[in-house]
Amino acid sequence: MKNYRADETRYLEGLTYHKNQKVEADARHIIENTRKKTPSFVSSLLHTFPLSTQQGKALMYLSEALLRIPDNETANLFLKDTFQATDWEDLKHKLPDLKRKTSLFAVKTFSQVLQRSPLSLTDTALQKIVKIGTKFVARNFILGETIDKAIQRSSRWKNTSYDMLGEAALTEGEAEAYFQRYKQAIFALEKTQSSLNLQERPGISVKLSALHPRYTYLHRDRVVQELTPRLDELVSLCHQKGLSLTVDAEEADTLDLSLEIIEKVARNPAFKGWDGLGLAVQAYQKRAQGLIDWAHNMALVTHQRLQIRLVKGAYWDTEIKRAQELGLDGYPVFTRKMHTDMNYLACAEKLLGLRTTLYPMFATHNAHSIAAIVHMADDLKDLEFQRLHGMGELLYEVVKEKYPTLSCRVYAPVGPHKELLPYLVRRILENGANSSFMNKIVDDNTPVEDLIKDPQSRARKLNYRPHPKIPLPKDLYGSGRKNAYGLDLSDDSQRLRLEKALKNFHPVEAFPIVQGKRLSDGEKITIRSPFQPMSRVGTCFWAQKEHIHAAFESATSAQTAWAKDPMHVRAACLQKAADDIEEKYDEWVALCMKEAGKTMGDAIAEIREAIDFCRYYAHEALSKFSDPRRLPGPAGEDNIYTLHGRGVFVCISPWNFPMAIFMGQVVAALVAGNAVLAKPAGPTPLIAYRVVETLHQAGVPQDVLHFIPCQPQDIGPLLFHHPSLGGVAFTGSTSTAKEVTRQLAEREGAIVPLIAETGGQNAMVLDTSAHIELAVKDVLASAFQSAGQRCSALRLVCVPDSLYEVFTERLRGAMDQLQVGDPCQISTDVGPVIHAAAKAGLSAYVEKMKNKGLAVYTLPAPSEEGTFVPPTLIEIDHMKQLEGEMFGPILHVLRYSNYQDVLDQINGLGFGLTFGLQSRIQKRMNSLSNDIHVGNIYVNRNIVGAVVGVQPFGGQGLSGTGPKAGGPYYLTRFMTERVTSINILAQGGDVALLSINDEDRD
Ligand SMILES: Cc1cc2nc3c(=O)[nH]c(=O)nc-3n(C[C@H](O)[C@H](O)[C@H](O)COP(=O)(O)OP(=O)(O)OC[C@H]3O[C@@H](n4cnc5c(N)ncnc54)[C@H](O)[C@@H]3O)c2cc1C
Repeated sequence: MKNYRADETRYLEGLTYHKNQKVEADARHIIENTRKKTPSFVSSLLHTFPLSTQQGKALMYLSEALLRIPDNETANLFLKDTFQATDWEDLKHKLPDLKRKTSLFAVKTFSQVLQRSPLSLTDTALQKIVKIGTKFVARNFILGETIDKAIQRSSRWKNTSYDMLGEAALTEGEAEAYFQRYKQAIFALEKTQSSLNLQERPGISVKLSALHPRYTYLHRDRVVQELTPRLDELVSLCHQKGLSLTVDAEEADTLDLSLEIIEKVARNPAFKGWDGLGLAVQAYQKRAQGLIDWAHNMALVTHQRLQIRLVKGAYWDTEIKRAQELGLDGYPVFTRKMHTDMNYLACAEKLLGLRTTLYPMFATHNAHSIAAIVHMADDLKDLEFQRLHGMGELLYEVVKEKYPTLSCRVYAPVGPHKELLPYLVRRILENGANSSFMNKIVDDNTPVEDLIKDPQSRARKLNYRPHPKIPLPKDLYGSGRKNAYGLDLSDDSQRLRLEKALKNFHPVEAFPIVQGKRLSDGEKITIRSPFQPMSRVGTCFWAQKEHIHAAFESATSAQTAWAKDPMHVRAACLQKAADDIEEKYDEWVALCMKEAGKTMGDAIAEIREAIDFCRYYAHEALSKFSDPRRLPGPAGEDNIYTLHGRGVFVCISPWNFPMAIFMGQVVAALVAGNAVLAKPAGPTPLIAYRVVETLHQAGVPQDVLHFIPCQPQDIGPLLFHHPSLGGVAFTGSTSTAKEVTRQLAEREGAIVPLIAETGGQNAMVLDTSAHIELAVKDVLASAFQSAGQRCSALRLVCVPDSLYEVFTERLRGAMDQLQVGDPCQISTDVGPVIHAAAKAGLSAYVEKMKNKGLAVYTLPAPSEEGTFVPPTLIEIDHMKQLEGEMFGPILHVLRYSNYQDVLDQINGLGFGLTFGLQSRIQKRMNSLSNDIHVGNIYVNRNIVGAVVGVQPFGGQGLSGTGPKAGGPYYLTRFMTERVTSINILAQGGDVALLSINDEDRD
């Protein structure tokens, strides 16, 4: 569907709808009369403690986590932590105000208890009170913990749509359980109000992500095949029982997938002539108009009247974050709320005009949106409005008084409170966000005028420009550095481009390049793909000893001139190389996949990292190291500090990031003013060869950068002992780094720096406040993405006693869903390991652990040929059972009982690369950088995928020397410092000193 990430301004310029002069007056009436009513407890609460304050945030944190913490000790810690971090000084003034605004007995009681600071209560009392309070907030938004309770509570409303909410399913068992819950709900609803017509009967709302454990575009074929019959069964049941079913809209990248499934179900001939199938359309998406056209056509083709629930959209911040993280070419959503509001009204008008094929359901709590739609519609028949349970109740009372024929359905989430916390937080955010209408209507300080203006008139005044504080993903790092461009695999057109490049891939012939000459007198080796052992990716000639000598000689004599070039000349080469890579993006993706066995997603991430390195170091060099610095000192003297290249750098990179790490090392050394001899990893010389070609084409002189693919045993004496050696940048194993250190120590001549990035025994610790579903997802990504072949990959997850069984069961269930195999299939989660030797080593380790009697859970190996190692989970009893770093998809899990103890043991391992914590305890997050001795700490997220300039990467201890790659101190290590002191009195006197103005003031 077009307009996925269309230009915001151009899109809005082409949009319009009819306006009626009565709208403002009606909206004013609705707002003023709603404000006269006593607001609900939760709206008052969120107004009294806005989310922009510490207290409001504390409220949100408590709602998100408290109910699911299983043990009292952590619950108390969490409460104390949350309350301590918050200033409650003004509570005494705020509580009476809250009491005044709401008549609820419970609030009055709570506020009496909380008159003092919450921290003065005993642990038990505080926990009890806050848990009751949190359940109270949850009950405001969640109709019932079971469908029967929900039906009872909803008897006061005319129409209800029930949503059997839950998290997105992680395992097959969870998807089945949600499916059964939906079925039970349909059976329970069958018994209600049997005599009324479909539009007056209850309905259900279904989240497709709850019905399948891999609901993502990456698994499109499987999801469509397995989810379609499930949805079809639910729709058939609703059809039989006279209930309607609406498919909720979720993240934008699942839209196409959901449409494919909905279309298949809609085409079931049994539903011909039925009006009960529906879908939600998010007006914050630029594809909303197109989606309505799609639904109209689908209704015509299938002879049904489809129900369209028009919403604005609930995942706005997630969409912005995703597009920025992936460096996409735009946002799928608008960046100003007024633009969403405007699109909402344009979509509403379109829907009203298509009422013969589509049944409009306007889901909004915004008085202006409601009034505008009422005036667009010639009558209020054949349409309905909808609101969420816990929101807009008073507003719709006024709306109903004003427009008595308007019908409003309530969307009512059903499920256990503990499972609905993400939904709850979305509602708290929606009510508490400053931009939200629900927040503003309870705020008497917001003038009514601000809430009733037509969004298009407001947007036109700003020329429909996107919000200046939400730059396009490419501009995320400001004007100094462009963010690397990323491709979106959920976008068919972008994915097809890459598939075409894979098909058109031609083997690469690589050679050592010395002084620009391609040399072919060494041994020639064939490079084969790790997942297709018979397929030739290319060939490479090894460099001979004399090539290395020649490269050194040439680099040594070229370096002085290169170092004297102004910084902007060197930086320009990096900038050009980055742009050139972006231009040939698709070819790079194909090469990274073929030679290194990367999945499409991993290949894109790697190319982006290489581009980011070029731009980041170019920008750092220009902004920090271009000009000499004059240092302060006594009169009569000039002290000038300058930085210079060290000489010839040898850069040695690994095969796991054959493009990004290779390029990062080389360009840092170059821009700092060094000449470079670049040695790629044995299994991946082709990518490195292309990188060197690109740098030469971008202007790096051929005698400054030399490419020397060779066997590791050839390089030691030749490279490390050469008198012109200025330094070594090395990424690889700890043992090889130690060997390099030894060789450098033994060399004659200057002492040169070694920048080493080595491996890690990376751990993640969960405490009992962790969100298990999110933790499982993060563990999967950290341990098994890239087949575990990242230095940062997770090797050990430590789980508290009370979560251990639940967590490991869900982890195993989620592992079962991983697809291992050919990385060229977009659905592959885990590709091959790099070569047969790696596979043999990892397999032998797993066998050894089994033989030790440890519980080992491993997925079946794929039948296809290739060096595949299935994801494996090994349960250990003690950290001493860990052997060296296992560079593959092998994860260990350890049960623990004492948090501090487990951190100490992790420190005791001696590595220090990455670490993850899954916790909601702020104090634990804040003290991590002192408590755990690693280079990169991640909280409540996965521990891989460090971004250049954002998460500079590199470790300590056995994990490396620093400075961090992609960080502010990296370049300086490639440079040497000089200070020139000039006695200017010797040339006459200090003219500046003698010229100071006698009249100067302080
Ligand atoms: C019955 C019902 C069913 C729903 N089902 C779904 C569903 O299936 N999928 C779904 O995603 N949502 C769903 N929602 C949630 C819905 O998206 C939000 O409740 C709705 O967006 C709030 O809109 P409003 O008109 O009530 O409030 P308003 O305050 O007028 O609008 C708030 C909305 O504006 C948008 N917005 C906020 N800031 C910006 C910005 N800077 N730039 C662009 N847009 C911005 C967001 O969409 C935000 O939610 C449903 C809501 C209802 C009532």
